[in-house]
Amino acid sequence: MSTSTLSVDAEITLITAGSPGVTGSTCTPELAEGPWVFDLQPAPSYGPGASMADPIPSDTPRQGQLPDDYKTASKLELDVRIRAAKKTLGDRVVVLGHFYQRDEVVQYADFVGDSFQLANAAKAKPEAEAIVFCGVHFMAETADILAGPAQAVILPNLAAGCSMADMADIDSVEEAWAQLAELYGTEPDASGRVPVIPVTYMNSSAALKGFCGEHGGIVCTSSNAATVLEWAFARGQRVLFFPDQHLGRNTAKAMGVPLERMPMWNPRKALGGNDEQGLLDAQVILWHGFCSVHKRFTVAQIEKARAEHPDVRVIVHPECPMPVVDAADEYGSTDYITKAIAAAPAGSTFAIGTEINLVQRLANDYPQHTIFCLDDVICPCSTMYRIHPGYLAWVLEELVAGRVVNQITVADDVAVPARVALERMLAARP
Ligand code: SF4
Repeated sequence: MSTSTLSVDAEITLITAGSPGVTGSTCTPELAEGPWVFDLQPAPSYGPGASMADPIPSDTPRQGQLPDDYKTASKLELDVRIRAAKKTLGDRVVVLGHFYQRDEVVQYADFVGDSFQLANAAKAKPEAEAIVFCGVHFMAETADILAGPAQAVILPNLAAGCSMADMADIDSVEEAWAQLAELYGTEPDASGRVPVIPVTYMNSSAALKGFCGEHGGIVCTSSNAATVLEWAFARGQRVLFFPDQHLGRNTAKAMGVPLERMPMWNPRKALGGNDEQGLLDAQVILWHGFCSVHKRFTVAQIEKARAEHPDVRVIVHPECPMPVVDAADEYGSTDYITKAIAAAPAGSTFAIGTEINLVQRLANDYPQHTIFCLDDVICPCSTMYRIHPGYLAWVLEELVAGRVVNQITVADDVAVPARVALERMLAARP
């Protein structure tokens, strides 16, 4: 690895380790490597960060070799090249940056937000021929579903997937659906409610959104999950919720659904590992999926934060396990967390349970508060890590040269029903 490559990533690690909101050491020294090192591995992996130990599907997209000059360019050189390409492209391109993306990339974004905000931001720029999505694969798919027909959605590194989204694949969900149809039948009850409604979290493949569109189901985000579950309960006797068990459980529990009526569906077992009676009594069937970033948060971390900061406000994301959500003062989406911090009186102290790049940015943006991450080990989302300024410079310069690389396209037979499920979500009201 060249010295200039080291300087880019050593600085990224240095900024992370020494910044407000961050106290610990990194979870793996591999975070100082350029992500392209992992593009060449014989077997695909998520790369360093919170998901690195998760099994990755064998058919996951692979990123081809990034041209060498993007790997060896200094941070300053990449900065000049990215800004020049953006200037040349003008309104023909829009760059989107997810909240969990590293600042070295977010600084070039025209919009920063959560996945659904960004998919809509792309729609708000119909003049842009290209939408460069600095997030992960399912987000780029959603942007393509909502984008205009002449707009190309680009993911700078094709290997930026999402380990949670990968935990529910279309074949496993179709198999689960068939088993449930055999058990429940397909006829509605006396009040017209069908036996089961599929609900997918936004963090899922386009194929699953399409499945929900085709089967009377709907999409939800971490901001509107309760509204969407109400919508589903009005139309179905029960819900099959995938892929995130924690968002499903935390939301349904807050709505009064007893835990014993929320069995887990393990796709590797017959009937998901349940007996028939358990499934007949179920109100919400939870898919066995989770986010490896949010799974790292623990009740012990909350107890430590309270012991060290008696006035602390603990806010965690609903992708965290239920005991963590129960022990926190509040829980909510990235948007909720950001607004809560913005609205707090100066001098407030926050311990936050979500991805480190967002916590670090909030700590920088709100110096009037003390804001820190519940987990003092720096362990970012492995898949967001795969987007590096080098890939961004490459896709932008290719656009300048008239070439679209790394385009994410959702075929019409999936995009049309997926749009139906997304539109149901937008129309669902509290
Ligand atoms: S933070 Fe979790 S859910 Fe979000 S992209 Fe990373 S792995 Fe997926």
